[in-house]
Amino acid sequence: MCGSHGSLELAYDEYRNQLLDAGLLLGSGVSGVYGLSGTFEGVIEAFEKLITRHGSPLNPEVMRFPPILNRKTYLSTDHIETMPDLMGSVHTFKGDQRAHLKLMQKKHADEDWTTELAPSDVMMVPAACYPLYPTAADSILPEEGRLVDLRAFVFRHEPSPDPARMQIFRQREFVKLGTPEQAHAHRDYWLEKGQEILTSVGLQVEAIIANDPFFGRGGRVMAATQQEQALKFELVTAVASEEKLTAISSSNCHLDHFGKEFNIKTSDGNDAHTACIGFGLERIALALFKKHGLDPDKWSPEVRGILEI
Ligand code: ZN
Repeated sequence: MCGSHGSLELAYDEYRNQLLDAGLLLGSGVSGVYGLSGTFEGVIEAFEKLITRHGSPLNPEVMRFPPILNRKTYLSTDHIETMPDLMGSVHTFKGDQRAHLKLMQKKHADEDWTTELAPSDVMMVPAACYPLYPTAADSILPEEGRLVDLRAFVFRHEPSPDPARMQIFRQREFVKLGTPEQAHAHRDYWLEKGQEILTSVGLQVEAIIANDPFFGRGGRVMAATQQEQALKFELVTAVASEEKLTAISSSNCHLDHFGKEFNIKTSDGNDAHTACIGFGLERIALALFKKHGLDPDKWSPEVRGILEI
């Protein structure tokens, strides 16, 4: 283990222990899976209302999807090709009485009982905007495109000691479906708006060109292309560590990937382009606790005023 890696682990442990000791996070025994206290949840609610105040003048369509999505939809997104190591598949028991006995025997013998399970029709949602696209399938967009306001729990199998790297967390997203120009304009608008919102609550953020954690050797090529074309931006800030900054918001231009896959057309008959901007709600709360202290009652009047808490 190199020196900086060791100090990072220490920073993660230290902040995580502070949060657990303060009762803001409730441990589950699994890395990256926590319950949240009322205070923690209150900060998320307040921040979401702030986003709503900024987003509602644009009159987005508001949609809320559950944290599971149709397995067929999942397969249409290319997530299994590009990030298979992060997926979550929901399996269940579909056997008869005899199969149940076998399941129970394995459980009691402390053997792998999951071999008796079968896949259900659903997968865990890996990104908040994935459930949206099939609802727009085989449609022609209005001339001005569509703007959708989403919030969902998303699952990523990446257990970590970093309290900011949860396996399940909420993303608040604004997605644009439209022409290439409309998708780009949306990304640019929210990249600036996101910085304005986060700065207003005292977080110093920096916009960086980023890439998704694509899997394997082919993934490195995809990551390089994504960087070259500047398709993904992140707003990063110090959360657990000052040396390794954490993304608390990200914007993605998907080009016509979803438009093609789900047959979504613009009014001029081309494949729709899509772009989304997401706010990582648990991470933003963790950044606020780090910056302003673990007790929101003691945050500055300015920050409390902006958050209306
Ligand atoms: Zn998205």
